[in-house]
Amino acid sequence: MEVPVEVSARHVHLSEKDIKKLFGSDYKLTHKRNLSQPDQFLCEERVELIGPKGIFESVAILSPARSQTQVEISITDSRKLGIEPFIRESGDLNGTAGCVLRGPNGETKIENGVIIAKRHIHMCTLDAKKIGTENGQICKVKIKTDSRALIFDDVVVRVNDNFALAMHIDTDEGNSANWNIGVKGTIIL
Ligand SMILES: [Zn+2]
Repeated sequence: MEVPVEVSARHVHLSEKDIKKLFGSDYKLTHKRNLSQPDQFLCEERVELIGPKGIFESVAILSPARSQTQVEISITDSRKLGIEPFIRESGDLNGTAGCVLRGPNGETKIENGVIIAKRHIHMCTLDAKKIGTENGQICKVKIKTDSRALIFDDVVVRVNDNFALAMHIDTDEGNSANWNIGVKGTIIL
């Protein structure tokens, strides 16, 4: 099965509590554009990401709000920030590193929630059945690009009826494969 491969640059998912701290109470984030996953969108607003050794200004915010703020960066980003990199699935935040976020209304310090997202494939139940996989299975994906074709191992399959078929990798992984818009991968189970 072929899967569209998308690169996620550093971004944050904010909790309602942190949106209030960063942007003010009653603030509503502004829709900029839809993402490939249903109901997920990029916001107009940006935040600053602050670590012990460095800062990223203008980091993207993805909506809707989560119960806990989650920051997704690459390993290269973690070096610049001076933050220990924890490779985790989305939502698995216990024991991960923290950081400070700064917005126009103030700062918030999160004790944990900074992760390097484990590379993954979003897939609906029907597609999973079709190729004989299930939620949580680890697979390989062969990515055919110009001069840097690559087989990624340790790719986790995430199955949900609300998911649109897409593989997500970060900027380090994308660069390692010379990724460009429109690149597809082949799932190897
Ligand atoms: Zn994803």
